[in-house]
Amino acid sequence: MALLAVAATLGLAAPGCATSGRAATSTTTTTATTVTDPGPRTSTTEPDAPAEPDAVDPSLTDVPDEVFAGLGDPRIDVADYQVRLHAEPGRDEVAGTARLRLAATTADPLPSFTLDLRGPRATQVLVDGRRAKVSTEADELEITPSAPLEPGESTSVVITYAGEPEPASFPRLEVPVGWQPDDRGGWFTMNEPFGASSWVPVNDHPSDKATWTITLDTPASVTGVANGRLRSRQAVAGRRRWVWETDQPMASYLAFVAIGDYDLVERGGAEGTEVVFAFPPDLSPDERGAFDQLDPILSFFSDTFGPYPDDDAGAAVVDTSLGLAMETQTRPLFGSDAFRGGDAWALAHEVAHQWYGNAVSPARWQDLWLNESFATYADWLWRESQGEGSVRELSDGRGVPSAGGLAVLDPEAAATFDGAVYEGGARALHALRLEAGDDDFFELLRRWFADNRGRSVTTEDFLALARKVTDADVDAWADEWLRNPDPPELPR
Ligand code: ZN
Repeated sequence: MALLAVAATLGLAAPGCATSGRAATSTTTTTATTVTDPGPRTSTTEPDAPAEPDAVDPSLTDVPDEVFAGLGDPRIDVADYQVRLHAEPGRDEVAGTARLRLAATTADPLPSFTLDLRGPRATQVLVDGRRAKVSTEADELEITPSAPLEPGESTSVVITYAGEPEPASFPRLEVPVGWQPDDRGGWFTMNEPFGASSWVPVNDHPSDKATWTITLDTPASVTGVANGRLRSRQAVAGRRRWVWETDQPMASYLAFVAIGDYDLVERGGAEGTEVVFAFPPDLSPDERGAFDQLDPILSFFSDTFGPYPDDDAGAAVVDTSLGLAMETQTRPLFGSDAFRGGDAWALAHEVAHQWYGNAVSPARWQDLWLNESFATYADWLWRESQGEGSVRELSDGRGVPSAGGLAVLDPEAAATFDGAVYEGGARALHALRLEAGDDDFFELLRRWFADNRGRSVTTEDFLALARKVTDADVDAWADEWLRNPDPPELPR
C-alpha cells in the first residue's frame, strides 16, 4: 500500500536493475527462502518455551541476510537501548549518549563486536564502566573491551557520540532512509530498512529486538516525539527533555524520533490504549479528523487478530511530503501527502503492522512479506468491513503489478519493496484462506500473532504453523503462490 504512494510520487521504474550502497541483492532465482539457517536469535521453539538463542559462529561479523548485507552483528544480542539525543532544528548535527545492555551470543568469550553507526563519530565507549578500544569504519564501530564478553552475561555499553547523521538513499526508489529534514527546519527519522544507524549506534537488524527509552534534549520551544509512552517533559537549563519509553521489544527500523513544531494531542483510545498524536500546528481539523478512524481500526484488528500488542498508540504527521507511510512502533508516521478524500489512506495498513511486522517481526529481510502482505491483507479486511467492496474485489487491480514478474519470496522483491510483497502476498493469503476455510485461516492468523509476539520469525515458521493449524496443502500453496513468479488468478 505505501508502495502505491512511492510509485505515484516517484515514478516507479521497472525493477531488476538497481542496488546500491549496502544493498546486496541476490539476482534472479525465484525459488528463494526455504529456510535452512534460521539465523541468530530466531525462535522456532514452542510458544511457551523462552527462545534459547543458538551460539553463533564467532567469525560472522554481520548478520547473514540475503537482501541487505552488512547489517548488525549476530554475535551480540541487545536487550535495551537508553538513548539521549541532543538535537536542534536547523542544525544538521546530533550529539548523544547511547546506553546499551547486551550479551554475547557466542559459545566462547567474545573479544570484540560491532555496532552500526553512519555519520556521527563515537568519542568514548565504556564497557561495564571501563574504557574500550574503538575503531571506526564508514558505517560501523568495532568495539574491543578490556576483557572479552562472557557469553550470555548482561553487559553495559555506553557510547558517547556526535556528528552529522548520514542518511542513506533507498536503492532504486530514492526514498531517504534515516535522519532527515522536514520542510520547516525540524528533523525526523524514517529508518526502514537501514536508517537507524544514521542517528544512534545500533545492532541494526530486525533479528535483534530490544526495549528502548529515547530522551530528546531540545531547545525549550521545540517538541520532541518518539515511540511509546511520554514519561516526562522536563525543563532543564533553558532546554527541554522529552523522555519516551517503549517497553515492548522493538526492531531498530521501527524506532522513530522527530523534533520540531508539533501539537501533542493526548487522549484515551480504544482497547485501553493511551493515544498520542503529533500533528504540525497548522494541520487542518479535517486532516486531524482523519485519525479518528484509529479507534475503530484498533478494535476491528483486535477482534480479528487478537488484542492490540501495546498500551500506547497514536500517529505522527511530519511536515513534508513523504511518498510513503511507515509503521513506526505505536506511532505510525505520515507525511503531509497522507490524506486523500478525507482519509489518512494508509492508516489501517500501518496500524495492522503493529501486529504483523512490529510485534511479530521478520528474522531476515527476505521475510518482508510477513510484514507487507499481512498488512495489505488486513487493510482489505478493514475496507471490506467498511463497505468498500469484498476482499476479492479489493484484491483486483490494486497496487503496483510486479513489473518484473517477481515471486513473493524472491529476495529481489523484498529488496525493492515490490508489489509482489504487498498485493502479491496478500492475494496469496487469500488463496490460502479459500483452501483452509475461514475458521482455520483466522485461527492461523491469531496463533501466528499470539505465539510469536515479541519475536523475530521466518517464512518457514509460518509454513510450519499453517501445516499445523489448517488442512491446506501448504507446500503446494507456497510453491504456487509464494515461489511462483506468475501465480494464478484468484477464483471469482
Ligand atoms: Zn507496510
